[in-house]
Amino acid sequence: MVDRPRVGAHYPRSVGELRAWFATDADCLDYLEWLRWPAGFVCPSCKHAGGWRLGDGRFECAECGKRTSTTAGTIFDRTRTPLTVWFTACWMFASDKGGISALSLQRALEIGSYQTAWAMLHRLRSVLVRPGRERLTGTVEVDETFIGGAEPGLRGGRARGKKVLTGIAVEIIEPKGLGRCRMAPLTDASAKSLHAFVTDHVEPGATVITDAWQGYHGLDTAGYVHDRRSQRGARAAGEDPGALLPAVHRVASLIKRWLLGTHQGSVNAAHLPSYMNEFVFRFNRRNSRSRGLVFYRLLQLAVDHEPLRYQELIATNQPQKTAPPGPVSRGNPPSLERQPANRPWRAADLDSSG
Ligand SMILES: [Zn+2]
Repeated sequence: MVDRPRVGAHYPRSVGELRAWFATDADCLDYLEWLRWPAGFVCPSCKHAGGWRLGDGRFECAECGKRTSTTAGTIFDRTRTPLTVWFTACWMFASDKGGISALSLQRALEIGSYQTAWAMLHRLRSVLVRPGRERLTGTVEVDETFIGGAEPGLRGGRARGKKVLTGIAVEIIEPKGLGRCRMAPLTDASAKSLHAFVTDHVEPGATVITDAWQGYHGLDTAGYVHDRRSQRGARAAGEDPGALLPAVHRVASLIKRWLLGTHQGSVNAAHLPSYMNEFVFRFNRRNSRSRGLVFYRLLQLAVDHEPLRYQELIATNQPQKTAPPGPVSRGNPPSLERQPANRPWRAADLDSSG
């Protein structure tokens, strides 16, 4: 892994550089190889460093003789989607502040089926949570709220899925800023669930601000400085009791708006946790100097992650059938690798005049 990745050298700074660097599927494969083995091939089986490249592009370990491809054991393993398409999808996923819906991805990259586009986005979401990542520190607001499901007042029977009780934790940066956030579904609002959420996501020693709900009682004996804010107290002091936990409420309204906007509210309760991961990934990188760096981090996680099969993705639930009607195809998109097109608009003029 590169210690300090540099823009323009280790990751592209713009769409222009993206196109120039990754013009062919082979360029993309080489980048994945570099990301995975920056200091040269290391055998995934026996961890021996060193081997040779075979005629088909795979590596053979010099120690155990096992053969492996660059994409084996990554989310790109045995994909039928060309890497140029994957890379462009990753760029869109990482660079757009609102992310991208499966339908937009399908249309933009000429992906034959909605299901393929949907599964690509789900594979990307599946890599976004690193086990053992750091917990939140400093001053952290914690609250629980319902997310997803039917929104009142929506036409067209969007009543699929249920609302999911969700724990939200947000770092407060004085005087008025927000730091990182974490989000996870909760079984219920009991002390057991809420305490588990806090210890999973907030570093002991932090100051945890909650409302007066009894489920939060006892946090001060669990290693936190507990700052309980009571609605009654706020009302007595003439403050807006709804603004008791402004940071959490800001983040909750952002994810709700994102689900309704980018995904038109059509997110299944079973998949909501992975959408939360996507939201948190993007939120925590919202001030990143370069969108290219976010793209780089995403690919770095992707080469480090076991593949998810379509069958596993849909094990719990079918993707939403919001795909436009049309012939069912295999859905394997063409590579974005193309011959120069020689200004087809000029030829079109000649055709119509003739
Ligand atoms: Zn080996």
